[in-house]
Amino acid sequence: MSLADDCIFCKILRNEVPSLKVYEDDQTYAFMDINPANPGHVLVIPKYHAPNIFEIPPEWLSACMVTVQKIALAVEKTVSPDGINILQANGEGAAQSVFHLHIHVMPRANGDDLKMNWGHNPGDMEAIAALAEEIKAELA
Ligand code: AMP
Ligand code: ZN
Repeated sequence: MSLADDCIFCKILRNEVPSLKVYEDDQTYAFMDINPANPGHVLVIPKYHAPNIFEIPPEWLSACMVTVQKIALAVEKTVSPDGINILQANGEGAAQSVFHLHIHVMPRANGDDLKMNWGHNPGDMEAIAALAEEIKAELA
């Protein structure tokens, strides 16, 4: 692992900040977004601090994408959404707010009219934790 001191996602990886983990392996970690765009919104991160797609070594990005597929399959089964977007932001102009590369697995609902900047409204933590358990069970 190559982590940064003052990065919120590195702190999650070091267990200094709590998270609702649904999956991890040697190179990646997946956890519930606490401001979900829709129920079942999961983030996949590398266990390597790189701010964006320009600076992540390709082997770490590849590992993330393999995990993204696993998570998307589990979210698909758990939430049965109308669709799933895979989203990854680079730079403030792309509405990136956390500068540790992360990939959103974002369930969609017909007519949810989700904008690219979805507002970061705090979710109901009990509902998020319940969905984390269901997604974890799907991944077990
Ligand atoms: P982005 O805007 O693409 O940089 O996305 C960052 C995401 O990280 C947002 O959807 C936030 O809700 C999410 N986020 C920030 N801090 C945390 C945290 N401590 N636990 C879970 N999700 C977080
Ligand atoms: Zn980091």
